[in-house]
Amino acid sequence: MQPFVYTADPARVVFGAGTLARLPDEVAALGCSRAMVLSTPEQKGMAADVEGRLGAACAGAYNGARMHTPVEVTEDAIGRISAARADSLIAVGGGSTTGLGKAIALRTGLKLVAVPTTYAGSEMTPILGETADGVKTTQRTPKVLPQTVIYDTDLTLSLPPRLSATSGINALAHAAEALYAPDSNPIVALMAEEAIRALAGSLPRIVTHPGDREARTTTLYGAWLCGICLGRVAMSLHHKLCHVLGGAFDLPHADTHTVILPYALAYNAAAAPGAMAAIARSLGSADASAGVRDLSARLGAPGSLREIGMPEAGIERATELALNSAYANPRPLEADAIRLLLRRAYAGEPPGSL
Ligand code: NAD
Repeated sequence: MQPFVYTADPARVVFGAGTLARLPDEVAALGCSRAMVLSTPEQKGMAADVEGRLGAACAGAYNGARMHTPVEVTEDAIGRISAARADSLIAVGGGSTTGLGKAIALRTGLKLVAVPTTYAGSEMTPILGETADGVKTTQRTPKVLPQTVIYDTDLTLSLPPRLSATSGINALAHAAEALYAPDSNPIVALMAEEAIRALAGSLPRIVTHPGDREARTTTLYGAWLCGICLGRVAMSLHHKLCHVLGGAFDLPHADTHTVILPYALAYNAAAAPGAMAAIARSLGSADASAGVRDLSARLGAPGSLREIGMPEAGIERATELALNSAYANPRPLEADAIRLLLRRAYAGEPPGSL
């Protein structure tokens, strides 16, 4: 075993079906009594339920969370929060709402309780991505970490099967890249393998029976572990490609992760044989890349960049952007192979050898 450093983040995690009922006690335990509930416009109904549960401890709601955490939305929300004299934030939703909660926490120092309703994993990471004037920047600071995370599997029952599938593969990508991260360690590897096993076993059941509570619970458990992996170690080619493609062509976040993962794994296969064996073992497949591709196909998830809105003419630009900045990857970045990877991903062809 190589020497390693493992830092644990301090969030308190409350996990299980019906755990939202514990929210008022969790807010009180933080010494707070005027919480502002955050959500997207689409999840206004879920937010209203949370407001009702908080009763007198609710200072109001802000339902304007949007994808990519635009700074103008954060500033607008802070105006409402100061007017309401809120002393804490409850972010109810996926990565977009958690992002808003983190951006406000960073600027105001307010305590943050995250109530995730997708499998994106942002609630477990000290990472914040924000957009100002169309440019997305990412920073890492413990100031954005929630104090408490409430995972209530009941809140994920309404996540549509297609979004459940792609959000689940988005989570799986965090665990897969954690296994070959330069700063990986045995604790993260344990969590990553367990997470992939949990997701591979439960996601197909969710797609056929979205109301299967046991499958929902196993998926959310896997997604939590994936979030820890994402927050703890450096991500590589897969996350970089998704960031580039999402930013340059405004592609949907979870869909992009779902399409790219088998190709990124094929690219890195020969350079990270131990990680690939662990991923394949956890998927119950002979090969990591093929295993993810098969899982995706079983889930009916998108398999090509073309079908999620990428223009073919964008392949060259995406190749340049992917090679632009230095980042960790088991295999050096080679322009021709990255271009081929993107061409195959665009068309949805098998990754083959890259
Ligand atoms: P999202 O938060 O944008 O949610 C997608 C849509 O699904 C929204 O309309 C939302 O209201 C709806 N939704 C969410 N949960 C639902 C539920 N249970 N039932 C019904 N509808 C529901 O999508 P996401 O994939 O969770 O998050 C993507 C964003 O999060 C991206 O901007 C990404 O960059 C960011 N992210 C950040 C980190 C990080 O560590 N900073 C990690 C992962 C993702």
